[in-house]
Amino acid sequence: MPEIQFYTGENIPLELHKVRIVQKLDLVPVERRAEAIAEAGNNTFLLKNKDIYLDMLTDSGVNAMSDRQLAAMMVADDSYAGSATFTRLTDKLKEIFDTDYFLPAHQGRAAENILAMTFVQKGSIIPMNYHFTTTKAHITRLGGYVEELVIDEGIKIESDHPFKGNFDLERLEDLFKEKGDRIPFVRIEAGTNLIGGQPLSLENIEAVADIVHRYGKLVVMDASLLQDNLYFIKTREEKAKDLSIREITRRISDKMDIIYFSARKLGFARGGGIAIHDKELYLRMRELVPMFEGFLTYGGMSVREMEAMAVGLEETMDFDVISQGPLFIKYMTDELVRLGVPVVTPAGGLGCHLDATRFIPQVRQEEYPAGALAAAVYIAGGIRGMERGTISEQREEDGSEHLASVELLRLALPRRVFTLSQVKYAIDRIKWLYDHRDLIGGLRFVEEPSSLRFFFGRLDPVSDWQDRLVRAFRKDFGESL
Ligand SMILES: *Cc1c(COP(=O)(O)O)cnc(C)c1O
Repeated sequence: MPEIQFYTGENIPLELHKVRIVQKLDLVPVERRAEAIAEAGNNTFLLKNKDIYLDMLTDSGVNAMSDRQLAAMMVADDSYAGSATFTRLTDKLKEIFDTDYFLPAHQGRAAENILAMTFVQKGSIIPMNYHFTTTKAHITRLGGYVEELVIDEGIKIESDHPFKGNFDLERLEDLFKEKGDRIPFVRIEAGTNLIGGQPLSLENIEAVADIVHRYGKLVVMDASLLQDNLYFIKTREEKAKDLSIREITRRISDKMDIIYFSARKLGFARGGGIAIHDKELYLRMRELVPMFEGFLTYGGMSVREMEAMAVGLEETMDFDVISQGPLFIKYMTDELVRLGVPVVTPAGGLGCHLDATRFIPQVRQEEYPAGALAAAVYIAGGIRGMERGTISEQREEDGSEHLASVELLRLALPRRVFTLSQVKYAIDRIKWLYDHRDLIGGLRFVEEPSSLRFFFGRLDPVSDWQDRLVRAFRKDFGESL
């Protein structure tokens, strides 16, 4: 999907695919939307799909698959051991990453479990540009510590830095000098999930690997969001502009010791696994696969998933294919900026992120602005996003609230799923909401589980603000949905 110029001057991304299977969607009236979010305890994880028009909760396991992926699923080789499907997948990984060994796992976090159980001990320090929820959970469960080394620009909401996911190399070097003996490996998340799908540059990735290898330690890449990162390296980095996607991928993988991924994102399928260059490292992790995942030639995945993944990985090497996500996200982000709506910039991968702190400054952090905005966006448009703010944090041991450093509402754009008119609709409803932002109030917990409260917790609005929002919608939109 290269940026194709329009004669009449319009500047929109053009799809280089056509839609051949569709799923019917409903858009329920605003009154029902207000009722549905109340039934869901103002928690978008608890909404039912039948009440949702645009599901922008996540990009995980919900990307569109290609005709070739679906066809490959029909010829999968179902056998417990020695499946030809597994051989095809391993060969594809060898072709792309030049890795000789592959350990399958049922999804990304299962790969993280295996890595953590093999390399993390009590007191270990795992440096990384930024953490991901499941990564951190596995490391801390085993008594390890996560050290985040992303550049300062990485956590600024508004920026024009092209690679906000980069490591601060000086801090990495200092950490090795001070506590290098406690570091078993360094984890590179390319691209980053929790700071808005922001990428790292090829130069930074190579520099990190060189430092880590100089200290004799391992470099591990979390490649779950690599497809977006490859696109950004190709389009934003001078030294990579003449390299093909395949060449960029090889430049990266040659520097890594281990590459793991969630195939719910990378490869437009489901499942996951760990690709490894070195036999000794492979043998250190191998026995954990049959113990926790399944036998070595399926690792908890169905053979159909593995066939889809092999084809999806091949399609990831196609610049047209991996451009769709970032270009749609850029379109949505740039339009919202143009309309004055506060968002994370520059546009990254994964989705568009609204900045709840500036969207509704009247809502105090103790009343969960990102959660309140998630409820309001659903009421305004039947659009489901994911709270990425204080609700997603855990309380301190003394019971006090741990306020998040940023309050974001993530609106994910699963790859090749939404049309541009649907994205325009989302922009329109968000702009309407922004013009009525004074109506939005906060939330308070009525049911708060002690762990993973963002998944299961239930909240109420602190006032009748949602009724007022519904009335304003009716006034402006008449009979319209
Ligand atoms: C989604 C994700 C994971 C976890 O993968 P699952 O398949 O959901 O278990 C790990 N790291 C990153 C960067 C991710 O985006």
